[in-house]
Amino acid sequence: MALHRYRGPLCAGLALAAFLGCGSATEDGPPPNQRMAPEVVVEDVSRQHTADVEPVRERAVAALPALVERLPGAEAQLPLRVRLMGEGDSTHVPTVDPDTGTILLYRFPGAGGDYDASLVHEMVHALRLPHWQTPERQTNLALFFEEGLAEVLARSIGFGSTGFPLFGTEPTVAVGHWIETNQLVSPARLARNHLALNFRCMPQAYSIRLSFVDFLVTAHGLDTLVSLTSGPVPVDEASLEAAYGASLDDLVDAWRIAVTSTWQALPEGQTKAEAWAAHPAIAHFPSCSAPQATDPDVDPDTEH
Ligand SMILES: [Zn+2]
Repeated sequence: MALHRYRGPLCAGLALAAFLGCGSATEDGPPPNQRMAPEVVVEDVSRQHTADVEPVRERAVAALPALVERLPGAEAQLPLRVRLMGEGDSTHVPTVDPDTGTILLYRFPGAGGDYDASLVHEMVHALRLPHWQTPERQTNLALFFEEGLAEVLARSIGFGSTGFPLFGTEPTVAVGHWIETNQLVSPARLARNHLALNFRCMPQAYSIRLSFVDFLVTAHGLDTLVSLTSGPVPVDEASLEAAYGASLDDLVDAWRIAVTSTWQALPEGQTKAEAWAAHPAIAHFPSCSAPQATDPDVDPDTEH
């Protein structure tokens, strides 16, 4: 779900290369620690959910080939390590440790709260560690599109998150709720203020971003997004415009017209939107509708 901010210097690529024994293969084949090495290792740190280990591992193994095929350099991050951490709350949410690449999963009560709900989304983050982990890549636009890619890619291979943020509904239903309640936050504002708003406006940030990035992928393909987010420099407004042939603001205008039209034509949209918004997780997390001048990270001028 969430990418934690970078916490300190570490060359994860080198650390993993050392673990894999890269460069030390002999004429007899790969070094011993590569033989029969599992691609996914799941550990029940909570010591209370042993029965969840195998379902999580099976889902990870099922999704892995399609992810590796689509993500350049992903093999270097194998094996993936997954830890079942126990019960989650507003501050303990699924994430990837930026220092080790380990996927940390938490359980939540109710439907969509199982450990594997956001597993594949987190696997995308873990497989792309070098693309977001370094300090120079901790930018608003780069992290916004990193988050968008994680969920869009997971959905495209049939392993979208089953819990937060959609809990089984479609992005348009969630966006429809924000439209109808006058709480729609522009994807342009979310992108330019990702670090300040991603948690502060969590239900809006995750659902609106998904709708917007899905709109871009539908129009331009997944490969364009993968290329944009995998380049030698972090995503910025110039590289975004080069990739999609329009500015962020113009892309958002096109999205807004399309999503509004789709929402208005959606059968039983109001009923679906009300049901989604009533989910405890959506109702629990804070939402916001306007930039707050007291927030030093938010520039009101970026409101769009
Ligand atoms: Zn995420």
